[in-house]
Amino acid sequence: MKTNNVLLEVKNISQKYGSGEKRFTAVQSVNLTLSEGEFVALLGPSGCGKSTLLRIIAGLQKPSEGRVLYRGEPLAGVNPHASIVFQTFALFPWLNVQENVELALKARGVAAALRTAHALDLLDRVGLDGFETAYPRELSGGMRQKVGFARAMAVEPELLCLDEPFSALDVLSAEALRGELLELWLGGSIPTRAILMVSHNIEEAVFMADRIVVMDKNPGRVVADFEVPLPHPRKHKSPEFQALVDQAYAILAGQTQPEAIELGSAPGEPGMTRALPEISINDLAGMLEHLTTQPQKAMDIYRLASELSVDSDHLLRLTEAAELMSFATIQKGDIALTPLGETFAEARILARKEIFATRIRRLPIFRWVINLLRASEGRKLKWGVIQSALELEFPPEEAEQQLNTLVDWGRYAEVLAYDDDEEMIYLEVSNGQTVPV
Ligand code: ADP
Ligand code: MG
Repeated sequence: MKTNNVLLEVKNISQKYGSGEKRFTAVQSVNLTLSEGEFVALLGPSGCGKSTLLRIIAGLQKPSEGRVLYRGEPLAGVNPHASIVFQTFALFPWLNVQENVELALKARGVAAALRTAHALDLLDRVGLDGFETAYPRELSGGMRQKVGFARAMAVEPELLCLDEPFSALDVLSAEALRGELLELWLGGSIPTRAILMVSHNIEEAVFMADRIVVMDKNPGRVVADFEVPLPHPRKHKSPEFQALVDQAYAILAGQTQPEAIELGSAPGEPGMTRALPEISINDLAGMLEHLTTQPQKAMDIYRLASELSVDSDHLLRLTEAAELMSFATIQKGDIALTPLGETFAEARILARKEIFATRIRRLPIFRWVINLLRASEGRKLKWGVIQSALELEFPPEEAEQQLNTLVDWGRYAEVLAYDDDEEMIYLEVSNGQTVPV
């Protein structure tokens, strides 16, 4: 499939965000080449700069440093040969399916007389035959995403960029849509010459791509780039498939950094605030309990994912949380409980809460919120106030998510309390005293 015709060259791209003290490097010195015929998957933890890189490649954003060449020419402005499909594709709710696609054709300058036939053909190709007059609200998530694909394809992109296109879908729709995209791509029935797909899902990447590029964060950079030399159709259960999944896990989970970097800094301090992985403590406890039942000390993370039947994205967040709490260490794709993790897994609920409380108090972001509450009258603050403070560190949606996780973990550990009616966050008081920090 791959030819020697280079389509895209990303040369030494860096992206800095923020200003003054808060300025940080989101993406550092990334080099990437895509040739015609290649399907490349981009994997990496959230915040490593995958979406940033895609926006730069599509010309929606100018990098702080470096340049993008398309067919050897430097990119100036929006890349007319690239098209992005986002996780949730914004369709116009007042237009029906066909009209949504026709609008994309109109934007591309296709004559009015040709639009209808072209739109119908595109819809047919993505399997939406019969749904032309339906409105977005009448469609399932999977079908809406198909309209998204049809719209992206309407511009006949040579380079199709996909930003986690399946992650907002339920398991079955995602699987069906993956199959359909592969069929279009492998069957050559779309004019697309190369695909760059951001994914959070290791199995998905190994299932679809010819090459996997792995990024890590702080700063966002490429840490691995390897081929997936398996013919299609690929079998999830085959040993070759699993070996590649294993390899990707090892690269993704294996980066253990020194504690100062690992824990990050508190909001308002120089350095990066480390985001808390979005997990439920029940799931974390479940995973640790499962690990205690294992005969050997270390367990293959890939096997763990299948034994717990959770997807790789979810599992990686859990292993990240386990590592952040020092409940487990991760090495070369294997996870092993630390004595602390073992203690936690075997403890009763109250002892668990205590262990959890001691562990979260050492996280800079918790120290920060606790100090903030201590300094406030009544040791309480409105949710919105803390969220605004976090928005200096994170984009608004992520700030809200971070605060959700902070409060969730803090309540479990009985470090924080939350009053829903007042939308007020309190420092938890026990025996008439504020919990010592
Ligand atoms: P990913 O897609 O891998 O999750 P992103 O490219 O969205 O990563 O973000 C990389 C880093 O840059 C994150 O720390 C994110 O918070 C930050 N970031 C992304 N976009 C902006 C922006 N417009 N302004 C400031 N920071 C941003
Ligand atoms: Mg992203």
